[in-house]
Amino acid sequence: MTTFRNARFKLTAWYLLIIISISSAFSVVIYKMLTSEVDRLLAIQQIRMERQFVPARVYIDPELVAEVKNRLIIMLLSVNGVILVTSGVLGYILAGRTLQPIEVALEEQNRFIADASHELRTPLTAIKTEIEVALRDKHLSLAAAKTYLASNLEEIDKLKNLTNNLLTLSRVKSQAQLPLSDINLNTLVGKLCSKNYRLQNQVTDITIQSHPETLSELLTILIDNALKYSPADQSVLVKSAVHNKSVDIKIIDHGIGVKSTELPHIFDRFYRSDLSRNKTHIDGFGLGLSIAQNLAKSLNAKLAVRSVLDKGSTFTISLPK
Ligand code: ADP
Repeated sequence: MTTFRNARFKLTAWYLLIIISISSAFSVVIYKMLTSEVDRLLAIQQIRMERQFVPARVYIDPELVAEVKNRLIIMLLSVNGVILVTSGVLGYILAGRTLQPIEVALEEQNRFIADASHELRTPLTAIKTEIEVALRDKHLSLAAAKTYLASNLEEIDKLKNLTNNLLTLSRVKSQAQLPLSDINLNTLVGKLCSKNYRLQNQVTDITIQSHPETLSELLTILIDNALKYSPADQSVLVKSAVHNKSVDIKIIDHGIGVKSTELPHIFDRFYRSDLSRNKTHIDGFGLGLSIAQNLAKSLNAKLAVRSVLDKGSTFTISLPK
């Protein structure tokens, strides 16, 4: 990007300006100090010569002194030249390194805006097209008008979900240190599982220190996905495993699973597997797991997945004890 190339050059120029000002100031000081000492010596020699104190063998030739001064200037200029070139190259490399994370973040943000706009445009286009068709139809019946309105309402719900997801993502990303409290896992998971008869709570009666709302939010995303991506007659299991330093919560489904090639990408923002996008037509924006990943991070937890296509998936949250 040209903005970053320009910024890199500017930053290098600033590094150079600072370094060369310091090194030339030092050179001037060194030159002044050395030449004033030599001038002082010459002045003493002059006085002594006038009083005939100086033996011929220790006589300092003023012409030689002038030549030494010239050589000193050349040496200092060469040293400054070397410093200029070296710091120019190093400055350029360092400026690149300083700016790289900012460049990556900006590129990611641009991609995010493009993806979000694309997702927003799809339902908006559908709504617009349907309204246009309805307006053009001169003999539109009440029943047909209701069908259009119902379809528009569906698209509006999608837009609402998307904006809610986007807001959650930005809230979770800027979340500060969360206050921890005692949570009984069995009670918390029990509450979530009571919302759907397909959910089975097999979590042990253990108390951990965590943030209840965030943990509920994280579990809700994974449980909703497990329900969404498995057949309506299949149950979803929520289990736990207690280790020395951590407690695992596993959400296990026997649904469509994820292809091994797609598995590394499912936590990316706006990523949806081919299967959920094309074949099964399951609604979603590909933001749930990205939010889940950020929620897990704010709980100092790890989120992992194992999945086999057509067999099912297991999402594991490893919480610190
Ligand atoms: P969404 O569900 O809105 O598409 P997510 O970020 O929650 O977005 O999930 C990203 C993708 O990961 C989904 O599109 C789906 O392909 C896959 N996925 C997530 N959870 C499961 C699951 N339990 N079983 C199978 N695939 C899943």
